[in-house]
Amino acid sequence: MSVAGTQSGWDSFATVAQTKRALEARQVSAEELARHYLARAEILNPTLNAFITLDPERTLAEARAADARRARGEDGEAAPLLGVPVAHKDIYLIEGWRTTCGSRMLANFVAPYTASVVESMTRAGMVTLGKLNMDEFAMGSSNETSYFGPVRNPFDLNRVPGGSSGGSAAAVAAGLAPATTGTDTGGSIRQPAMFCNLTGLKPTYGICSRYGIIAFASSLDQAGPFARTAEDCALLLNAMAGHDPRDATSLERPREDYTRRLEEPLAGLRIGLPREFFGEGVDSGVLAAVEGALEVYRALGATTVEISLPNVKYSVPAYYVVAPAEASSNLSRFDGVRYGHRAAEYDDLLDMYKRTRAEGFGAEVKRRILIGTYVLSHGYYDAYYLQAGKLRRLIAEDFKRAYAECDVVMGPTAPETAFAFGAKSDDPVKMYLNDIFTICANLTGQPALSHPCGVDAQGQAVGLQIIGNYLDEARMLAIAHRFQQATDWHMRRPALEPMRASMAGGAA
Ligand code: GLN
Repeated sequence: MSVAGTQSGWDSFATVAQTKRALEARQVSAEELARHYLARAEILNPTLNAFITLDPERTLAEARAADARRARGEDGEAAPLLGVPVAHKDIYLIEGWRTTCGSRMLANFVAPYTASVVESMTRAGMVTLGKLNMDEFAMGSSNETSYFGPVRNPFDLNRVPGGSSGGSAAAVAAGLAPATTGTDTGGSIRQPAMFCNLTGLKPTYGICSRYGIIAFASSLDQAGPFARTAEDCALLLNAMAGHDPRDATSLERPREDYTRRLEEPLAGLRIGLPREFFGEGVDSGVLAAVEGALEVYRALGATTVEISLPNVKYSVPAYYVVAPAEASSNLSRFDGVRYGHRAAEYDDLLDMYKRTRAEGFGAEVKRRILIGTYVLSHGYYDAYYLQAGKLRRLIAEDFKRAYAECDVVMGPTAPETAFAFGAKSDDPVKMYLNDIFTICANLTGQPALSHPCGVDAQGQAVGLQIIGNYLDEARMLAIAHRFQQATDWHMRRPALEPMRASMAGGAA
């Protein structure tokens, strides 16, 4: 792989839509694109640590296959993203690829089959660039719990990229891929999208199959895309969504074209602003940027109305019962027998389990397993898990009431912008509170996205969250698209060129 690939003239920050057009016009081949991004990753990844696994030979073979499909004329509706590169969070199983989930437990695990979402993206023609770093088992908000080390935020190397899909966000932000996949259990797509100035969507629960995605909290986990624009997210969701009989919670419904409403005007749109999202605890720079974005929306013809979601304040406590409970159950399969790591020395079977799990899991994962086991233990189920379930319903009812007055809900994605490494890693509750605005959409199953809407006084990206009613993705993407046609916050690029130049010099 030659460094010259990065001098190919291809814009590393091209959108998926632009990439698709260039491929269709045969201005660039899938192989050239793959070579370009692989070369760029070779230069930048040692610093950013966004990828856990790159396998250039596999990627190039896929790219050549995509070019061959185009040469055979198989590039129409059946493969709308033919040749467009994509990288996947390392929680997605892809047959033959190492799939670590950011854990020592799976550090050498090679997936025996492929996640349905990846399968359908591949069917749409996308070429896999590699597997992306993440918090261990998707538990975290800063990518600091990864066994493979933290990911750096391309906009400020001293700050976190957000988490748990930190690698997914950093890779797109740094121009290492035009798009990536993530998963969102409590905010893991939207919060890193905000921290890295991207558009990220968590679809309605059940839209994307969970088959082949390593389970964290099964009633909350959803797959979704990261990209620069809402239009790109719509193109990606077209390739990701769909009914899958292999996932019992997958929604059975006709296919949808998520791009179909993109050009709809915003006139008449009613935006609900929950009092609870604009109060204490939200950084002033975040608030100012969000207010500025709301002005843009009003100028585009939307109206805003104050609403109240009184039970949303219980989101974080409810989540930290439900998510650990489900995680403790899901992670019981990592026992040293069936998958992944096994302790080298042990006395008997029980000792093997203990040592394997003690060695294989990191501190945050152990904390979640302990909490989850506690809340599910005999006599406590009613007091915790059942109560949390009732809170989920109350929160859903809050939103249902709100939708009588508004079409979508808006607010900040997170209460503060990207923070420095170590700022919260010794205080789990502080870390958990970063998800205060995102978790409600997982508890209720509603779709939610984050799009760039400004910067704070330190120049750090602020994200605006749009929460919508069930299955309203097409409209939400259209709303964000209209905003992006009127603004250019989403076009901001990190100043990586000096770093790249010095490194390219070193590598030459
Ligand atoms: N930060 C939250 C947690 O640690 C959410 C993570 C996620 O969405 N995967 O659980």
